[in-house]
Amino acid sequence: MPAFVPDYSRQTRLHGVGEAGQAKLADARVLVIGAGGLGCPVLMYLAGAGVGTLGIVDGDRLDASNLHRQTLYDACGVGKKKVQLAARRITALNPTINISTYDEPLHAGNIADVFAQYDLVVECSDDMHSRYLCNDAAVTTVTPLILASIYQYEGQLQVVSASPGTPCLRCLWPDEPAPGIAGSCVESGVLGSVPGVLGAMQATEALKLLLDLPRPADNALLLVNLLEGSSQRLSIDPARGCALHGGCIEVARQSFAKAKDERTVDLAFADLADAIAAGYTLVDVREPAEIEAQPLSVSSRSLPSTQIETRAAELPDGRVLLICASGRRSGHAARNLRGQGLGNIHSLAGGLASLTPARHRMPG
Ligand SMILES: [Zn+2]
Repeated sequence: MPAFVPDYSRQTRLHGVGEAGQAKLADARVLVIGAGGLGCPVLMYLAGAGVGTLGIVDGDRLDASNLHRQTLYDACGVGKKKVQLAARRITALNPTINISTYDEPLHAGNIADVFAQYDLVVECSDDMHSRYLCNDAAVTTVTPLILASIYQYEGQLQVVSASPGTPCLRCLWPDEPAPGIAGSCVESGVLGSVPGVLGAMQATEALKLLLDLPRPADNALLLVNLLEGSSQRLSIDPARGCALHGGCIEVARQSFAKAKDERTVDLAFADLADAIAAGYTLVDVREPAEIEAQPLSVSSRSLPSTQIETRAAELPDGRVLLICASGRRSGHAARNLRGQGLGNIHSLAGGLASLTPARHRMPG
């Protein structure tokens, strides 16, 4: 079969696109979070338009109840991983584009690193927690984000351009609502075409952004009611923008720093007092004879690495830093304890040998 040559002539003849615009699309990298009712039209239109690289994030398997609104799939795919089905369908639509798949949801520990690899993110999960996580990653990495949500016959659309002084999701609603407050498609029901309309609107905003077309709706929240056939644009005061009030970016940075900290096992400190100041309880995992020969200069508990796994119940609550001479035994113990389901257990990287010597010289 001869190599497929895409024909973008129907869009390149538009003023505002042209060959220069097509080249911008070919260079663009777009991440689509959620390959469901919103994500299907987004992926199809972006692939069809020739966006050079598409990332697809989805942890779910296709369910028969998805088919009324998730237009990338068919009955043969039920039970299979949606990212794989979506990637195959998108490749069939446009074999010239690159596709990366992520078959687990992004989390606070990796989302900013993934966002940094893309020019633009389209959030299509229809999940409140994901929307806040994506908003925080967008403002901290300065990656534009297109948010949409649906509720029965209605939808909302917000473009977070993430440039300084422009509003984000937290500018509108500062705090993530408790789980269960916002309705999902599973609980509230949805007409299949409603996410189709909102997803097509997200795809349009994405293309406008990549093509540098005018975007007067960026600082507004668009409300669409498809039962009434009405829409409303609520402007968000740019004076409340993140860069001016500062709060949203700070909230995002703190939540990422906390998540990253919790996921990292080996932590480096110049001084044990710094670890205590950072809220860690120190647990010395060396054998009693070693501790006697070289006691720590700060307060700590003792639980030898040879017994720590069977005596895990004796570990203090909160952040725990295990310490040994070289970091080997403490690192091994921390990983085994995490394997048992204990979170927030860390190891002093490099052990006591790594500490700044002048401040830990033995007296005398
Ligand atoms: Zn904000």
